Amino acid sequence: MPELPEVETVRRGLAPVIEGARILNVDQRRGDLRFPFHERFASRLVGRTITGLGRRAKYLLTDLDDGTVLVMHLGMSGSFRIETAAESGTPGEFYRDRSKDPRHDHVVFQLGDSAGTVRSNVVYNDPRRFGFMTLVPRDALDRHPLFAHLGIDPTGNALNGPILRTLFAGKVTSLKAALLDQRLIAGLGNIYVCEALHRAGLSPFRAAGTLAENAWQDGMAADRLAAAIHAVVAEAIAAGGSSLRDHRQADGTLGYFQHSFSVYDRAGRVCPSPGCGGTIERRMQNGRSTFYCGTCQI
Ligand SMILES: [Zn+2]
Repeated sequence: MPELPEVETVRRGLAPVIEGARILNVDQRRGDLRFPFHERFASRLVGRTITGLGRRAKYLLTDLDDGTVLVMHLGMSGSFRIETAAESGTPGEFYRDRSKDPRHDHVVFQLGDSAGTVRSNVVYNDPRRFGFMTLVPRDALDRHPLFAHLGIDPTGNALNGPILRTLFAGKVTSLKAALLDQRLIAGLGNIYVCEALHRAGLSPFRAAGTLAENAWQDGMAADRLAAAIHAVVAEAIAAGGSSLRDHRQADGTLGYFQHSFSVYDRAGRVCPSPGCGGTIERRMQNGRSTFYCGTCQI
């Protein structure tokens, strides 16, 4: 499943192409993806102008000029391909490569200018079809079931040490499980939780509530963790963005970017923390692989 930095990189790749464009045609090739499409999905979009492309957690929010938001989620394997007369490319950087098989092209947005001149096709491809698209009125977005219970976004200033102590106070669940709980923090996945915990020197297995108990020692830990989350997400977005430009300059198509992780997928390697000397371990935790260093994460 794409993680938040990957979705944000997709957003940044798509935004220059779709913002301000008019939707000239929508070729919807299936009745459903993960969920059925909205009734009259295509006809409600045709003729609309896209006024902005935002993101909430891992949802892309495409604002239209009639006050509707086209909400899109990439699921496990979704991607967008931008086709113009000059080139074709897939914006975004994924840890695992994306499909370009035309059999999995499910929706084609034909975009143009206000005079009706075609500028590009934006193609949604999704082999496993866990992604989805739905239409929600902008003024009802916060109350919509997809968004009503989402926690704070890990990229913004809302995530800091004090808020982590408040969110985790009294929780006996593991620190890793609490960080993956979308009702607390929305958009963090397995990879960046493992990376942030390693950078902060905190064990994934300790109770989340311990970050709120000891005002001095664990207060510092919560501040450290908030800073680590901001840093690993920001670095991944920056890496995706620079890689995006490199690939485009090279051949117009975009492959996947091999992130340089510290612990994720690195079991058996030496811990990269200066002076640690420990070994990265992998252990199953709530059905997911946890990668960590038992020496420097306490
Ligand atoms: Zn270590």
